[in-house]
Amino acid sequence: MTNIYGYRLEDLENYFLERGSKKFHAQQVFSWLYEKRVESFEEMSNISHEMIDSLKNDFSIERLKIVDVQEDVDVCKYLFELEDQEHIEAVLMRHDYGNSICISSQVGCNMGCKFCESGRRKKVRNLETYEMVLQLLMIEKLLGERISHVVVMGIGEPFDNYQNLIHFFEIINHPKGLAIGARHITVSTCGLVPKILEFSDFPLQINLAISLHAPNNEIRDKIMPINRVYPLEQLIPAIETYLKKTNRRVTFEYILLKDINDSEECALELASLVKNINCYINLIPYNETNNLEFMRTSTVQIMRFYDILKKNSVNVTIRKEFGGKISAACGQLRSKKEEL
Ligand code: SAH
Repeated sequence: MTNIYGYRLEDLENYFLERGSKKFHAQQVFSWLYEKRVESFEEMSNISHEMIDSLKNDFSIERLKIVDVQEDVDVCKYLFELEDQEHIEAVLMRHDYGNSICISSQVGCNMGCKFCESGRRKKVRNLETYEMVLQLLMIEKLLGERISHVVVMGIGEPFDNYQNLIHFFEIINHPKGLAIGARHITVSTCGLVPKILEFSDFPLQINLAISLHAPNNEIRDKIMPINRVYPLEQLIPAIETYLKKTNRRVTFEYILLKDINDSEECALELASLVKNINCYINLIPYNETNNLEFMRTSTVQIMRFYDILKKNSVNVTIRKEFGGKISAACGQLRSKKEEL
């Protein structure tokens, strides 16, 4: 049975129209789900019994299971169990501007980035739209506070699950849904060029982040296999097309990996690569994991790298770190569970 949290308002409208009923019932249902936040069809008290029965027949309203929660000062990590007993995770971060949640988009990931914990397990399946919506709804409920920002940077490659992702955005952004402003939503991709181009035509002004992590093909090929499919000479023009069409700015994520992509030459090469692009670079101190061969760049070297970019007029920030203690880097909680 399909889960109701995967339905956009227009999908529900079609559902009611197809049944010879009135479209405004969709708004009523939507408002029960997202404004009043009921968890059963029976509670939808302005809807007839007959209609509630057919909703119960046609939709599931089941939630996911939260099977582990780990808390640190301003970060909290949740492990979800899905209906097929697969596990995914989401991370809540408390910023001074509000609560932000990092959600997963797939079970496992096929992109195979060498430094990333999530990719240690091949993709099992895409998350359904409702599984993305429920990560947000359920954490908001546990927290008892509004979540104002969403980033799709958890397990998975969101652009490898494009259609469900887009439906997720449409639900959480809808004024009668969770009403999260498009500019408060960010999606991060390792660089699936055809989807970046498709995303340039998506009407909502959602922020785009690109996991760049290297200033040239030689290094990028070594740490991100996707670069052999979509090398920089394809990726950069696709980003330029996106910028031209949307008139926006793009974020480049750059994890600093000791002796791999953190030299002064790399910084200079990076500055020249992004020179004509309306962007800013987010330098990410690598979150070390037990399993992999990569090491974190020293703080001194991070600052050196940062200074070179600054001197070359690049907009650059160093990512605030959350949750080192509780394995908040992508995939770490899930892989810990697997080790148990
Ligand atoms: N597949 C998407 C989104 C998920 S990864 C993408 O590649 O963008 C989200 C971000 O976390 C990526 O920039 C990824 O490279 C980064 N990341 C993965 N493992 C990390 C680690 N151990 N420490 C710091 N950042 C990491």
